[in-house]
Parts: sequence; structure tokens; C-alpha cells
Amino acid sequence: MHEIVIISGKGGTGKTSLTAAFAHLARNKVICDLDVDAPDLHLLLDPHHDREVEFWAGNEARIVEDKCQQCGLCKEMCRYGAVIEHDDGRFSIDSLRCEGCHVCVTFCPDEAINFPEKHCGQWFTSTTRFGPMVHARLFPGEENSGRLVALLKQQARELAEQQGLDLILSDGAPGIGCPVISSLSGTHLAVLVTEPTPSGRHDLKRVAALCEHFRIPTAVIVNKFDLNLAETASIETYCREKNYPIIGHLPHDPVITEAMVRKRAVTEIQDTELGTRIKEAWLEIEKRIS
Ligand code: SF4
Ligand code: SF4
Repeated sequence: MHEIVIISGKGGTGKTSLTAAFAHLARNKVICDLDVDAPDLHLLLDPHHDREVEFWAGNEARIVEDKCQQCGLCKEMCRYGAVIEHDDGRFSIDSLRCEGCHVCVTFCPDEAINFPEKHCGQWFTSTTRFGPMVHARLFPGEENSGRLVALLKQQARELAEQQGLDLILSDGAPGIGCPVISSLSGTHLAVLVTEPTPSGRHDLKRVAALCEHFRIPTAVIVNKFDLNLAETASIETYCREKNYPIIGHLPHDPVITEAMVRKRAVTEIQDTELGTRIKEAWLEIEKRIS
């Protein structure tokens, strides 16, 4: 089984549109949306949920008012300012600030603080017109996205095994943080999508360095390459120096917006140059994992 993840080092590079197109072109695969903080692949693939599971992770402190003697020790000890003292002398915990460090629970003299698991979101296995999909929704402000990504990857592997599929195609998270690192684990090829701007080049360097650190083979796609040919040349020079293969130059094309509005992958729209270039890039990817 092979695993491919599409990442970009930042949002807004066209990564998800490209993943949807690859999902259209790839055979025998499980599609996986690992951008759990801001998932949007479902908007293009319109999944039907076959299974919906609540995601619980980490813990948060909660004061039991009946037991609390209002001594204020928890407020003194909380380094995150999560304990709120009310005008009437009551204490409560701001769940958005609580880091779940357990200090207040340990030191409360009256054992008045509970420490339940946090309900952070949901994950799904679904059916789409391109095949099975694993995805999730993390509630706003919730953490543990790296853990949820690892869980989704595991579910995708199990689904692939059950259904005899040999590829996991994942839309990764933007940036280089915990969810991206988690999404790279076990990956055979990271497809790095960039755009010809100084920030696009900067973010490409960061995410490429991350892949290099974890020894993940990479392939680069320059999206909207024709919007700034000087920047595209600069990305090409960098990739040549670092030995990162560029497998696609995709032109700026308003058809991408049309595809989004119609909730379609761009390759589902007939006879476009962009679609042709994406198909060529996909053939390059297939060569690299075969
Ligand atoms: S330390 Fe315990 S008893 Fe004291 S205010 Fe906090 S919850 Fe209440
Ligand atoms: S668990 Fe830690 S972060 Fe949360 S309220 Fe208690 S001391 Fe503060």
C-alpha cells in the first residue's frame, strides 16, 4: 500500500482543489482529509457519512461548586489564567484557556475539581463518487489535531485493507506544525504545492525541509506559475539546487472557480489545459510510487 500526502506549507495554494482532482484520477484509493482544523475537501466531494464517531482527547478541569470551599488556591496556581473568580466569590474554569495540566486538580484541598476527557470533534468514514473517504471535524479552538490526524490515517489504512485498496491519498494540513508532522508519518511521497510569490517560496522551503528531516521523498507542483515568471524561475532554481523534482507547472485558470462553484474536481470539467496538466502531474506521481 502507498500513501501520498498533498501539502503546501501554507493555506490558499490550491492544495485542496488539486487533491480533489487527484482523487478523481487515482484508482483503488481511500481519500483522506487530514486538514482537521479547517477541512474543506468534503465541499467538493459531497460525502455520504456511513459512520460518525465522536472524538474525545485530552482533559479539562471543572470545578464542582458543591464541594468548592472558595479558597482560591486553584486561581493562584494556574499558570494559564484559566480559573475565573466571580463577584459572588464562586470560582469556575474557562475551558478555552485550560491547558489540562492537572495542577489545580492535584492541589485542590477539597478534591473539588473534576478532570473529564474533552469532547473535541467528530470523525467520519464516508462514501464519495470517487471512493471511500475518511475525514473529521475538530470543534473551533480545540487542540489534539495531531492525534486526530494519526487516528484518521490509521482508519484510512484499515479501510484500505478491508476493501483491498492500495493507495491512501491525503489532503494535508497547511503549515509545518503538529498535524502536518503527523500527516507525514508513514508517507511514501509528499507532493508540495507552491505558488510563485515570496511567501509561497518561503513556505515551500520550510515544508520541504520538514520532509527532508523525516526523509520523505518529495515532488513539487508550482500552481499559477504564469502569474509571476520571475518567482517561478526562482522556485525552479531552488528545487534544482536541492534536487526536488518539479512534476507540474499549472497555469492560472478561472475554471478552478467554476469547478468549485459546481462542487466538482477541475478534472471533471472537460477539455481544459489545467485539467490536462494535472493529469500529466498525476502520471508523474504514479511513476514515483510504482
Ligand atoms: S482550590 Fe478547590 S476549594 Fe479552592 S477555590 Fe479552587 S476548587 Fe475551590
Ligand atoms: S488543569 Fe491546569 S490549566 Fe486547567 S485550570 Fe487547572 S491549573 Fe489551570
